[in-house]
Amino acid sequence: MSASSLVTLAEPSSQLDAVGRIRRITTHPLRVVLPKAQRTSQGDYPSIEILLVEVETEAGIVGIGEGLARRGARGYATLVDEALSPRLIGQDARDRRRLWRLMRNALTGRPGGQLVEAIAAIDIALWDIAGKIAGEPIYRLLGGMGRTHVNAYASSINWLDDATVEAEVAHALALGFREIKVKLGRPVKDAIARAALVRRLAPETLLGVDANWAYDVDEAITVGRALADLGYDFFEEPIVPHDRAGYRRLSQHLPIRIAAGESDYVAAEALISLEDRSLGMIQPDVTRSGGITETWRIAELAAAHHVAYAPHVGWSGAICVAASLHLAAAAECFRSFECMVYDNPLRDSLCSPVIGSASQLDEGRLLVPQAPGLGVTLDRAVLDAHRIS
Ligand SMILES: [Mg+2]
Repeated sequence: MSASSLVTLAEPSSQLDAVGRIRRITTHPLRVVLPKAQRTSQGDYPSIEILLVEVETEAGIVGIGEGLARRGARGYATLVDEALSPRLIGQDARDRRRLWRLMRNALTGRPGGQLVEAIAAIDIALWDIAGKIAGEPIYRLLGGMGRTHVNAYASSINWLDDATVEAEVAHALALGFREIKVKLGRPVKDAIARAALVRRLAPETLLGVDANWAYDVDEAITVGRALADLGYDFFEEPIVPHDRAGYRRLSQHLPIRIAAGESDYVAAEALISLEDRSLGMIQPDVTRSGGITETWRIAELAAAHHVAYAPHVGWSGAICVAASLHLAAAAECFRSFECMVYDNPLRDSLCSPVIGSASQLDEGRLLVPQAPGLGVTLDRAVLDAHRIS
């Protein structure tokens, strides 16, 4: 090989390295006071926090990511700054699985907890970079099912008084939703009465329930049977998420689809529920379950076990919504997308274009972003307005 051909080979290689080599990671802990406080069986949620990260390569390509924080977002930023970033600077952003393992090695034990949620933020940003380099939306990088729109359900009718519930159901139906999720809690008698009320208000609508682990196993069997009699489609987190034996018992005693998964961190946890067939629908949250890399693994495992996949979104920001839309568009066993029907500035104003908003519902479906990467751009002024100082 001549000297000149060696030079020709070396130049593109070094340009390629610069495209992907990580030079800077910036963390932004954010907080928003919700325009309307939310109530579940576990209490009220007047505000939420998220961790937002920016990962920049030497070629100036910037990926954005989000980690589920809810509270204590500054602590998550510290985890990224002190435990993850030092491992990543100088690495090639395109080696997503390798970098996931590198970040996971910052743990000294089982993968889980806040560090995996911080890893999620970085991983989503790496996928954004990969899509921008390839000039393709992330759902196409994942393989794709040819979906540009995904079915969506209204989330969620609050565990409040009947008059508020009647207004919230009417609002969801007016927006055009064909599927609605209802929050239930204790006591059991009130929960069953509420489920019956919503069924009367929406007789033709596909209905599901989220109990946020309000019940013990026997209470959950009582509520689940009533839900099945009322024609409800799924029963989400009836009991605490770590009681795997309890979920097995529920699946054997209830003629209704059991849903869970938003509390899992990694595919190894999801696999337990898939292998024992206790779930009919699995709901990992991309900002908790290690980002797109690990959540995609869960979605693929769900398909292999013939279990429906429905991304958990909840009170998240626009980047979680975008990443979840890409996963929904690509997943073989995707079923329905969680669309919050309430205003959330971190979803509706943080990025452009606006995505995943209930006001954008078209025949019960939401558009998947089509631009390269996540397909959304940060609004700096909104970012600055919500940064926790
Ligand atoms: Mg839930």
